Amino acid sequence: MYQSNILLIYTGGTIGMIKNPETGALKSFDFDNLLIKIPELKLLDCTIETVSFEEPIDSSNMSPQYWIKIADIIETYYHSCDGFVVLHGSDTMSYTASALSFMLENLSKPVIFTGSQLPIGDLRTDAKENLITSIQVASLRDYDGPIIKEVGLYFEYKLYRGNRTTKINAEHFEAFASLNYPELLESGVHLKINKDFLIKPSNAFKFKIHSQLNTNVSIVKLFPGISEKMLQVFLLCSDLEGVVLETYGAGNTTTQQWFIDLLSKVIQKGIYIINVTQCSGGSVLMGQYETSEKLQEIGLISAGDMTTEAAITKLMYLLTKNLSPELFRTKYEQSLRGEMS
Ligand code: ASP
Repeated sequence: MYQSNILLIYTGGTIGMIKNPETGALKSFDFDNLLIKIPELKLLDCTIETVSFEEPIDSSNMSPQYWIKIADIIETYYHSCDGFVVLHGSDTMSYTASALSFMLENLSKPVIFTGSQLPIGDLRTDAKENLITSIQVASLRDYDGPIIKEVGLYFEYKLYRGNRTTKINAEHFEAFASLNYPELLESGVHLKINKDFLIKPSNAFKFKIHSQLNTNVSIVKLFPGISEKMLQVFLLCSDLEGVVLETYGAGNTTTQQWFIDLLSKVIQKGIYIINVTQCSGGSVLMGQYETSEKLQEIGLISAGDMTTEAAITKLMYLLTKNLSPELFRTKYEQSLRGEMS
């Protein structure tokens, strides 16, 4: 029987941390120690290769440089491995999974992100189940090769499309949610795959990595009472090329004239403004309410039902492509990797 060869990429996160005996704070530990803590890995029906960041990080220190590093590792091992499991802290895992989904084009193998809420050495750890099942998920095959051919995120018995997830809880084992897209797989006695929801890429296109990201971007969250002065600081910053504006409900904002005039001025300068909802679920629908009609008129781009994590990483990705404003809008408002409905 064919045995999948899985590459385990260790970037850091709680999964491999230990407590500093003096302060009690959790800090990253080395990978070999992590593997010793899981002898069960030897029982899996696949071979496992490992690559570790030289200095594992808490994912709060994650940055596009590290995303490029992960993409490069995947590219190096793409032909020799059947699937990839990335061990990553949960804090920014949804950002990394979203970014990687855009950076890896025509993926035909699984890239599964996972981590844990408790370190692997903890008696009540969730790390073992998350890691072991992620490796099994990455090893799943049918006559056509790997079953999962996209970037996923596995946590607490569920596999989600990575660019649809958000971290919703800092304490529960169920730390992630995917409110606008069903889970791809559920782990119970059996692994129940929701085949209809998987990406089915065409074999006609070659795998390609995009290893540039533009970080001249920001996220601005609206709140009742936000002032013109404060918003000017965020939107008139000299290097800004694109901004994700977190609006209310279905993409609504205040209709005050200063606000519309400011956004309009920013768009005239050639800066893209993306309208994403600050709700965890649902979609932007500009024009549904009077409070979003003007936004559509002045040229905001709709993020549809994308998460903020997907919206900002898609912006970083598309800004490197030197697209005309029309093409930029067309590309942004269409699904590139299953990130929007
Ligand atoms: N602070 C940790 C990290 O994101 C939390 C975790 O791993 O769950 O690296």
